Amino acid sequence: MKFGCHLSIKEGYLGAAKQALAWNATAFQYFPKNPRSLLVKDFDRVDAAECKAFCLENNLQSVSHSPYPTSLTPHDEKRKNQVIASLLNDLEITEACGSIGIVVHFGKQISSSNPLHSYQIMIEMLNTVLERWEGKAKILLENNAGLPGSIGTTLEELVQVRKLCEYPEKIGFCLDTCHAFASGLWDGENWEEVLENGIELGFFDELEVIHFNNSKYDTRLGKDRHAPIFGPGYIKVNQFDQLMQTPQLQNIPFILETPKEEIPHEKEIKLIQERWGQKLGR
Ligand SMILES: [Zn+2]
Repeated sequence: MKFGCHLSIKEGYLGAAKQALAWNATAFQYFPKNPRSLLVKDFDRVDAAECKAFCLENNLQSVSHSPYPTSLTPHDEKRKNQVIASLLNDLEITEACGSIGIVVHFGKQISSSNPLHSYQIMIEMLNTVLERWEGKAKILLENNAGLPGSIGTTLEELVQVRKLCEYPEKIGFCLDTCHAFASGLWDGENWEEVLENGIELGFFDELEVIHFNNSKYDTRLGKDRHAPIFGPGYIKVNQFDQLMQTPQLQNIPFILETPKEEIPHEKEIKLIQERWGQKLGR
């Protein structure tokens, strides 16, 4: 199993990779640039190349996460162009750092009169970005936490949007366990069904990363509030056990996005390694 957490790049991309290794992680996630802005970053290519080399040397896997304002369903033309430029910049940084791909949230419902409109916009956005992208780094679509009825909460939607794009081979998936629980996709009791459905849809063939989070709210409330894995979260440890025993997830990096003020990530990674790191032959 590969475990790690989201890390800061305040010491650079190489600094994040070194931090991951120091904490005995085997994977990590980072923001390629300022997470609050879509401004294109003139990044440090030497630092990125050193990060890539260090990860190869130490068998570390990484993914990046797009800045918060990144939306695949932008409201206007200006924002749309900003997101496209930003995503191409993110992909370039992700590739230079040797990462698998950049995590991007599924879009939002933007028209109640035409529910298909949001999907159409998303697919157009993805086509526009990916027709200009020749690298190996992928866009990793992440499931939403929203209430059932809002978009991007089901495996069907992720698979279908990928399929309808002109470049499906440049798209993979990120499954966030808190979002899945919040939306009711995985309610803690139905993992076998989720697995069976995902296999049938081909979802697991394209799954590249798990966002490994507990939830501060109960299932089906649509609330995106991450909680530490061990603690008072609503997902029980034995429910996480089921995920860990799933053959389809054995080589997928599990990345913590849990509140580090409640438990330091270094400690949480250690607890996770103790419970799940050994038994599957790490
Ligand atoms: Zn996430």
